[in-house]
Amino acid sequence: MRALAAALRLLYPRVCPFCGDAIPLGQRVCPKCTLQSHRISDTINHKGVLEAQGETLPYAEGDIAPFWYQGPVRRAITAYKFSARLGAAEVLAAHMADTCRAVLPLEEIEGVVCVPGRPRQRRERGFGHSELLAQHLARELDIPYLKGALVKLFDTPYQHRLGLPARRENLLGAFEVADRAAVRGKTLLLCDDIVTTGGTAAECAKMLRVRGCERVYFCAAAAAGKERNREANGKL
Ligand SMILES: [Zn+2]
Repeated sequence: MRALAAALRLLYPRVCPFCGDAIPLGQRVCPKCTLQSHRISDTINHKGVLEAQGETLPYAEGDIAPFWYQGPVRRAITAYKFSARLGAAEVLAAHMADTCRAVLPLEEIEGVVCVPGRPRQRRERGFGHSELLAQHLARELDIPYLKGALVKLFDTPYQHRLGLPARRENLLGAFEVADRAAVRGKTLLLCDDIVTTGGTAAECAKMLRVRGCERVYFCAAAAAGKERNREANGKL
């Protein structure tokens, strides 16, 4: 069987989920797309990736991410979102799961919810990228995925095009818990693809708490904060 598997791999080599190149045996991505050099340390994650950058994530107990959003990580996530390389979700979710296992009290977490995407984008791309990540993460961690628990009621202007004060206002009332019974009294893991200032995650965490959720932890695939270069340069 092993010989057959090896022969099949020669005929049909596994391809990198981010760029489509063939990948070496035993690797999840090709050498060009390796993400390890942009990993966020567990020490930073224990503090919280936002707190490490002088920000906070109100309504959440912890905010973590396996990677800084730069270099190959940035290219990988862009390929995932805009070129519909759906296999990338599995790889990113596996890294998110590793960080969750290292940092969070997983035995307390009863459900995974995702930051809802923009309804129009989902229609155009045919998939919700944060939803797909959340589903894979839930499977990796063996925690139930609460599909559609949070919904976005209307499309809002893009956060990155707004100044800081406008960002918070932009999201007010944009999210709602669709199934209150599913979140009441629970400790949940909220997840998204990228976290910048945490405005969107905070608004989602707030709605979950307002609707009776006991505790919220947050995990993104990558953190795009202004201080992201500092850890790489040994200053954080
Ligand atoms: Zn690649």
